[in-house]
Amino acid sequence: MVIIMHVGAPEADVQAVVRLVEETGFQPFINPGIERKVIAVLGDVDINKYELIDVFSNMPGVERVDLISDPFKLSSRQYHPEDLVVRVGTAEIGGSSLTIAAGPCSVESRPQILEAAEAVRAAGATLLRGGAFKPRSSPHSFQGLGEEGLALLREAGDRVGLPVVTEVLDTHDVDVVCRYADMLQIGARNMQNFALLRRVGESGHPVLLKRGPGSKIKDLLMAAEYIMVEGNDQVVLCERGITTFEDAARYTTDINAIPILKQMSHLPVMVDPSHSTGDWRYVTAIARAGIAAGADGLIIEVHPDPQHARSDGKQSLKPARFATLVGEVTRIGQAMGRSLAEAPSRA
Ligand code: PEP
Ligand code: MN
Repeated sequence: MVIIMHVGAPEADVQAVVRLVEETGFQPFINPGIERKVIAVLGDVDINKYELIDVFSNMPGVERVDLISDPFKLSSRQYHPEDLVVRVGTAEIGGSSLTIAAGPCSVESRPQILEAAEAVRAAGATLLRGGAFKPRSSPHSFQGLGEEGLALLREAGDRVGLPVVTEVLDTHDVDVVCRYADMLQIGARNMQNFALLRRVGESGHPVLLKRGPGSKIKDLLMAAEYIMVEGNDQVVLCERGITTFEDAARYTTDINAIPILKQMSHLPVMVDPSHSTGDWRYVTAIARAGIAAGADGLIIEVHPDPQHARSDGKQSLKPARFATLVGEVTRIGQAMGRSLAEAPSRA
């Protein structure tokens, strides 16, 4: 159930509603909307919610009360009618912004990440990516540089004036990743690692939540719910390809998911054409399609020397090709009413 307040309803009316929600044994979540406040009523209490509709509807300041039948409540657009804009340092994800996160799959060395950071910033990226804890299919493959990689990523981000996003794999690493990163990435393999989702929820850091390759759109929204129920509403969803019978590419980009997610949820949506295609030759085309379908941004793997990359070299763009991609998606973004933020000034 959500209680939608009138535009400009006095704070005293909002608080009276919140108190009554608590008194009936439910947990209130207030959406601090700019236009109007919406209060989500959560919890499994043995009270007939239909009876409560009348009680809340008659309170001062209340415009209407809706029952949300979907299992995702906090991530539902009904709870938060306006688009969410997530701020990550100087970057803005959502609203009328076009956000481009870029960088190597893995942080490999100081020269590699510094060169990549300079290149993606020069091409117009607004966020720097780079993995320090890598989820590899084989335990014998490069696992990332760990904390050393986080420190190098931070140094590179600060050097070029870009905020940084990196994956956290384990609940035990959330604190250390938060010390270095502006945004936490939950990788596709961990989309339903509920302990990790709760822990990043508690951290309060903005989260880039990737869709699992075998997960439905509903499962992705339920995963977001796990983060949000811990009080962290700064969640960005990411379509990164799903498993289908087609094996010409690594995964199949679910373009449908973009407008569907935007309709079901207020959370920003990004697309990762690098992991969905698994092949640099298709990355630009799918990046263009993602923005044309209404995505708020992209996350792209870029490496100064893809042939010698320690992970995902096959799908990594060289800097010059990435610069072409940025030019093309910027023009598509403009047609969609979005603009790429100006490159922030250097630290
Ligand atoms: C990555 O971003 O490098 C990554 C491993 O992505 P995914 O979890 O989408 O496979
Ligand atoms: Mn990768």
